Amino acid sequence: MSERYAFIGLGHLGGNLAASLIRNGFAVIVFDRDPDAVERLVALGATAASSPAEAAARAGNAITCLPSPKVSEAVLTGPGGLLEGLPRGGTWIEMSTNGRDEILRLAALASAKGIETLECPVTGGVHLAASGKITALVGGDAALYERHRPAIEAMCAKSFLMGPIGSAAVIKVITNMLAFIHLVAAGEALMLAKQGGLDLAQSYHAIVASSGNSFVHETESQLILNGSYDIGFTMDLALKDLGFALGMGKDFGVPLDLATRVNALFQQGKAAYGGGAWSTQIVKLLEDAVGTDLRAPGFPAKLEL
Ligand code: NAD
Repeated sequence: MSERYAFIGLGHLGGNLAASLIRNGFAVIVFDRDPDAVERLVALGATAASSPAEAAARAGNAITCLPSPKVSEAVLTGPGGLLEGLPRGGTWIEMSTNGRDEILRLAALASAKGIETLECPVTGGVHLAASGKITALVGGDAALYERHRPAIEAMCAKSFLMGPIGSAAVIKVITNMLAFIHLVAAGEALMLAKQGGLDLAQSYHAIVASSGNSFVHETESQLILNGSYDIGFTMDLALKDLGFALGMGKDFGVPLDLATRVNALFQQGKAAYGGGAWSTQIVKLLEDAVGTDLRAPGFPAKLEL
């Protein structure tokens, strides 16, 4: 019989991951503090629970996809939290993006109660999560990874076991740092094209076929050209990840000039448009500074699945 999973945190990312589990035949027991998010998953076949503890007790294993380490800690250790419900020998799979120190500390708290932890942050964005094609970066015990591999593969097209707990947090933060740097670079590139008098749609396609292409340009530049900016990932989440990256730079003695500058830009972006604005709107800082936008016909408001 396949493992059953509690799923806590059914937002832009978690809602899609939980839906993939259901689509692939797993029994999923859900909890979110937002009742609408719970409703959406119940409509797809999930069972609702009234607390993380209840969901975890009914499933035996629990997955979390939450906005910050603080919330993950509360859901894990707080009243009605996962550690009150998970049986000894159960697994906590943390799919939120965390710092290395945070996941090590939280895994130790779980371990003290006989719960094993697998960290499993994902990368690729909401549109790939929706089609089950996102990438998982895994940290933890190899046998535990094998045990939960069917569930991970139901949600993610590729998974990489990076090493012990903490190692997935490091590579996840590295990949996001790269993505935010690429995003700012893509905005500057498109603005140069526009102000240089080029056709923006043709410039987009030329860059895709060039040595300057990036995954971020291929995907997020389309949302910029459309004007929706709707990547399903917020400025607050970007600042969280850049904070982790800068912390790692300090801890590991690596000067991060580009990430430091991009972090300052995201702080400016948050001040201008709010922490809940899409991270792609960072490019709007340049649009506002130059006094022109980066629109072109023929690009989607949301990324195709
Ligand atoms: P989100 O804000 O859309 O979703 C978070 C969900 O958690 C919401 O449904 C919210 O109601 C719920 N929640 C918050 N506090 C809670 C609590 N105390 N108890 C129960 N539920 C609670 O965020 P998201 O974009 O889905 O991101 C979730 C995590 O995944 C973050 O760590 C983020 O960094 C990471 N991530 C997101 C993306 C993306 O593209 N959105 C990609 C990779 C990684």
